[in-house]
Amino acid sequence: MKKIVVIPGDGIGKEVVPATLKILQSFDLPFEYVYAEAGDECLERYGTPLPEETLELCKESSAILFGAVGETAADVIVRLRQELDLFANVRPAKSIKGVKCLYDNVDLIVVRENTECLYKGYEFEVGEDAIAIRVITRRGCERIVRFAFELAKRENRKRVTALHKANVLKKTCGLFKKVFYEMAKGYDLEVNDYYIDAGCLYLVTKPWIFDVIVTTNLFGDIVSDLTAGLVGGLGLAPSANIGERYALFEPVHGSAPDIAGKGIANPTATILSACMMLKHLGYGDLAEKIEKAVEKVISEGKTTPDLGGNLKTMEFAEEVLKACDP
Ligand code: ATP
Repeated sequence: MKKIVVIPGDGIGKEVVPATLKILQSFDLPFEYVYAEAGDECLERYGTPLPEETLELCKESSAILFGAVGETAADVIVRLRQELDLFANVRPAKSIKGVKCLYDNVDLIVVRENTECLYKGYEFEVGEDAIAIRVITRRGCERIVRFAFELAKRENRKRVTALHKANVLKKTCGLFKKVFYEMAKGYDLEVNDYYIDAGCLYLVTKPWIFDVIVTTNLFGDIVSDLTAGLVGGLGLAPSANIGERYALFEPVHGSAPDIAGKGIANPTATILSACMMLKHLGYGDLAEKIEKAVEKVISEGKTTPDLGGNLKTMEFAEEVLKACDP
């Protein structure tokens, strides 16, 4: 039995996670689902946004399925990434037929370093001012760059592009760029790099030139929301947080308080995150079956309101289930 720790969290997390589990639990998988609490409501109830029990459960897990948290994100998801050393954040962006967006031929993966950079949390007040320290280590660069190259090889991708700002951030981004080209020598892959600002321009004007993107934490956070927007919005964007020992799967979006409680959140991002989890645990065939079902349902115009349809969160999941078993 594999232990899957399920953390629905706050807001629409509590809607998209049950919809995803409805799909997962209808297949005969050797999974034990264990619920754990974290987030804003957890803070109100227990005085902490990430209880020790939740952290302990995560440390006994085969995988973690995470919904979303609100204001406590820094204390929950950022802390989980650091405590569990989930150094690689993988965020695919792929066009889905039937979803109106700028382009219909986007198919790229953003690999974002997840534990360093300005998100290390070294922020200080100095008198009336504030400073932050950006941490970029050689080890951190090597493992994220290796991860991106290995992923590109495994997924038959051709090109890996580094995004950085080494002309201005000469030491930190300079190190990242140097390690990228050093390590590229060990792989038979096309490699190139852009400054992050130019990279954003190209992502908007000619996204088809990208295949796998590797970048540092803050740039990756921003760029992956941009790529989610390219393929139809946050409701569709899945992600995986991978470390040496643990793995956590979550939609890119947050708790979306504006639509929470209405039952209209799009569960696609979470369903596709669960598919990434299935692949990680060795159930690639089932993952592909569910992914195909999601694409079929959306391309038939059966969608939640964010994509112009009128299905409720759970109704969408039911349609996906039906499409899994024609
Ligand atoms: P948080 O503070 O938790 O990050 P937020 O509202 O600032 O919440 P997101 O949750 O990422 O940020 O949402 C941004 C907007 O995108 C929301 O206003 C919501 O309308 C939309 N959105 C996000 N996720 C979904 C979803 N799964 N389905 C439909 N709309 C979504």
